[in-house]
Amino acid sequence: MATQRILDFLATRRPDGPCLVVDLDVVRDNFHAFEKALPDSKIFYAVKANPAPEVLRLLAQLGSSFDTASVAEVEMALDAGATPDRISFGNTIKKERDVQRAFALGIRLFAVDCVEEVEKIARVAPGSRVFCRVLTDGAGAEWPLSRKFGCVPAMAVDVLRHAKALGLDAHGVSFHVGSQQCDLRAWDRALGDAKMVFSTLEKEGIVLKMVNMGGGFPTRYLKDVPVAQAYGQAIFSALRKHFGNEIPETIIEPGRGMVGNAGVIKSEVVLISKKADNDNVRWVYLDIGKFGGLAETMDEAIRYPIATPRDGDEVAPCVLAGPTCDSADVLYEKTPYPLPLSLTIGDEVLIEGTGAYTTTYSAVAFNGFEPLRAYVI
Ligand SMILES: *Cc1c(COP(=O)(O)O)cnc(C)c1O
Repeated sequence: MATQRILDFLATRRPDGPCLVVDLDVVRDNFHAFEKALPDSKIFYAVKANPAPEVLRLLAQLGSSFDTASVAEVEMALDAGATPDRISFGNTIKKERDVQRAFALGIRLFAVDCVEEVEKIARVAPGSRVFCRVLTDGAGAEWPLSRKFGCVPAMAVDVLRHAKALGLDAHGVSFHVGSQQCDLRAWDRALGDAKMVFSTLEKEGIVLKMVNMGGGFPTRYLKDVPVAQAYGQAIFSALRKHFGNEIPETIIEPGRGMVGNAGVIKSEVVLISKKADNDNVRWVYLDIGKFGGLAETMDEAIRYPIATPRDGDEVAPCVLAGPTCDSADVLYEKTPYPLPLSLTIGDEVLIEGTGAYTTTYSAVAFNGFEPLRAYVI
């Protein structure tokens, strides 16, 4: 939902063209909700969700640590005031020279998911802590991150053993249950796998210390989602179930759940038309689409709430599309989107829950449409 601060900003500033407005008060509330829900876990905000300097600075002040995926993101976190010990290089796919650069910047915590990556780190970031990412099936997530990252738990054992042999600190295990994960049981399965890696290595005298439980915490789009507290309870009971009285250090890496509901995109209806006189499918074209920041509508995976000035009037489904000359730039067609029949060209609409994964996806000015502007208030 758009907060009063966002509505006031749009009413007084009247920015022209599509833009994202992020309310820092909501980010602060989300941070505190995570702290309260998982009091024993350290929070590493996933920078890629929204790297606006104001967002990073606020989180750094609140005491957050940062999950980064590139040297550029490491530098953003440092610029925001985070010390290197509060930054994790969490991408499992890194150039060796980038590992070296991050090491030179003071970073000592790296993700791996294979022995090849361990070898890079041992060469250029000696003595660093590494954690091995295990695969999850991503079941229950609306934006799964499954096959690309992680290895099976049995291989994680080999990877961490190899890390130790090369003089690295075999620190722990990580996983990501898939983004926008609404199944509270997803963490239980993954924590069972993590425990298996811990136990197997312990028998060889390698004592792991940390489980990185990743992101996946949802934001509310059209459907209700469980609150942070429910995730906290489910995760805590899963930790107890698998680790008993020896719960390791844990970290979480919320991205979407930290900033998603803090942002609203203002957009404008550019055109409403039909494809034939006897066709009753309305096509509604906005001034923002897949290439302007709404990439997560790919396969219609994420369905954003859309508020219009005519809410309350009779609605009918329509195909919703972006403004560029690419036929892939259609947001919702397979499942048409209900919008008021009275909607008119020029109407401003608010696309809600767009604080995460929007500006970062619109860096290229495809078709002359400028990258999504953002105001952080
Ligand atoms: C993207 C990412 C996150 C954040 O995921 P959300 O689902 O947005 O919370 C966390 N950790 C890693 C390693 C990631 O790649």
